[in-house]
Amino acid sequence: MSIFSLKGKKGLITGIANNKSIAYGCAKMIHEAGAEIALTYQNEKTKKYTEDLAKSLDAKLFLEFDVTVEGSLENVFSAIEKKWGKLDFFIHAIAFSKAEDLHTSIINTSADGFAFAMDVSCHSFLKMAKCATPLMKDGGAMLTLTYYGAEKAIENYNIMGPIKAALESSVRYMAKDLGEKGIRVFAVSPGPVDTRAGSGIKDFNQLLDSAKEKSPMKKLVTLEEIGNLAAFLVGPGSTGMTGQTIFVDAGYHIIG
Ligand code: NAP
Repeated sequence: MSIFSLKGKKGLITGIANNKSIAYGCAKMIHEAGAEIALTYQNEKTKKYTEDLAKSLDAKLFLEFDVTVEGSLENVFSAIEKKWGKLDFFIHAIAFSKAEDLHTSIINTSADGFAFAMDVSCHSFLKMAKCATPLMKDGGAMLTLTYYGAEKAIENYNIMGPIKAALESSVRYMAKDLGEKGIRVFAVSPGPVDTRAGSGIKDFNQLLDSAKEKSPMKKLVTLEEIGNLAAFLVGPGSTGMTGQTIFVDAGYHIIG
């Protein structure tokens, strides 16, 4: 069987808001590689925009999931356990900060706002991992999404910088703790993509223009390119790897 085939694999993908979402790119390429997928939507409003996408991807489960609602995550994992009795991978593609905490210098961020953004955007990955671990009986892969603003101070990325840094560090500690169970953990770091979350960053168009102009490949990455990396990382081709932050940014991060 091809090292790129995901036939027989079963995975959960969170964070599809619409067909521009990074999670949609991941779901599309992972589905094309042969995996069965479970998808989530945050609430009834998002459901309207994602229901048809879930059908087109032949999602075996389509579940409501808001990480700030008590019991929501547990419901998702109990539905998965009932349906499949196991899980091979999951993708955490969720992030959120209130606008007033995002659109200011980080020294002005409120303690509550910082904690809320950290809870939704970082700690939720740890919570998902805790629920997923008992279902990954044959090992598995856990992926989250990060950004270069974790390691460099990027204009207007503000509070999300330290939060993504914590997320990338969490990936390393999770990889250390879960490695013996055959569970591998990764952070995928795409260059900027024009999504709803992306457009919440001030002057996001300038970030897109500069990424295109300065990257060695003089282009922005596509959802399919990010999805291909995700499909590789959850599959049999990457079983010797864990704990890394892996860039898919047309080479932008190597430029000094
Ligand atoms: P997106 O399409 O807006 O996806 C963000 C997702 O997070 C949405 O589906 C949103 O649900 C979900 N979400 C927010 N709060 C949630 C909560 N409390 N519970 C459950 N789900 C929640 O934007 P995206 O750019 O693809 O973002 C996906 C990930 O990629 C994020 O971690 C982001 O930081 C990362 N990333 C983005 C870029 C970029 O340039 N766009 C670059 C690097 C990394 P609703 O739509 O229902 O609110």
